[in-house]
Amino acid sequence: MSEYRILTTEALTMRFGGVTAVDGVDFAVRDGELRCLLGPNGAGKSTFFKCLTGQLTPTSGRVTFRDQDITGWQTHQIVALGIGIKTQVPNLYNGLDAWEHVRIAARRKHLPKLAREIAEKSLERCGITDLARREVGLLSHGQRQLVELAMVLAGEPTLLLLDEPAAGMTGEERDRLARLVIEASKTAAVIVVEHDMAFIRQIARDVTVFHRGAIFAEAPVAEIMADRRVQEIYLGKQSDAA
Ligand code: ADP
Ligand code: MG
Repeated sequence: MSEYRILTTEALTMRFGGVTAVDGVDFAVRDGELRCLLGPNGAGKSTFFKCLTGQLTPTSGRVTFRDQDITGWQTHQIVALGIGIKTQVPNLYNGLDAWEHVRIAARRKHLPKLAREIAEKSLERCGITDLARREVGLLSHGQRQLVELAMVLAGEPTLLLLDEPAAGMTGEERDRLARLVIEASKTAAVIVVEHDMAFIRQIARDVTVFHRGAIFAEAPVAEIMADRRVQEIYLGKQSDAA
C-alpha cells in the first residue's frame, strides 16, 4: 500500500444551527486503502461523508483530494475527479430499469459500445445481471443498493465513498457486497460508512470510529472490536459523558 494520502480533511467542521455535527475532524486515507467509518447513530458519519461528496458545504476546515483543495466543490465536480459516491439513500429513477441506470453511468466516460460492455460487467460483478430488465422501483432496498453500486463501479472510480451500503440487504447480498468492496479496493481507495459491526468485521482493515462529531478511535478492526470504550458508546453508556 502506498503512503500517498489520496484524501485528507483538516479541522473539518459542520454546524447546523446550534448542533455541531462534525467537529474539527483531521482524517486521511492512503492510496489503495479500505477504511471503515463506524459509530453509533447521530455520531456525524453521514454529515462527514456529505462534506466529502459535496452534498454539504462544511462550515469550516478543508477537504483535499490528490493535493487539490476540493472544499465546497459541487458533487458533479467531485464525481468528475474520479470519485464514486453511493449515498445512504439510493438515488434512482423508479421508472427506469437497472440496465439503463448502469449503462448511463458508464456512458458518462465511454462511447456506447464500450459503455455497454462496462455496464454488463458491473451488473455481473454486483450479481444483479438477472435484475437488469426490472424497473428499479420494484426492487428491494438491498437490490437497489446493488444497482447503485453497479452504477458507481461503472464510473471506474479511483476513490469510492459508500454510505451504509449494506442497509436492507439479505445475508447473501451482504456477503456479495463484502467481496465486492474488497475487490474494488484493489483498484481504488475505499471509504465505507457503516453502522453494522458484523459487516465491518467482514471487510475492514482499519477503522475510524466517530462519536459526537469527532474521531473517537482509529485502529485495526480487531483492536476496535475489542475496545471496551467503543462497545460502550455503541450501547450508549457514554451518551452523557463529556
Ligand atoms: P450518523 O450518520 O452518524 O448517524 P448524522 O451525520 O446523520 O449521523 O447526524 C449527526 C448529527 O447532526 C445528529 O445530531 C443529527 O441530528 C444532526 N444533523 C444531521 N443532518 C442535519 C441537518 N440537515 N440539519 C440539522 N441537523 C442535522
Ligand atoms: Mg448516517
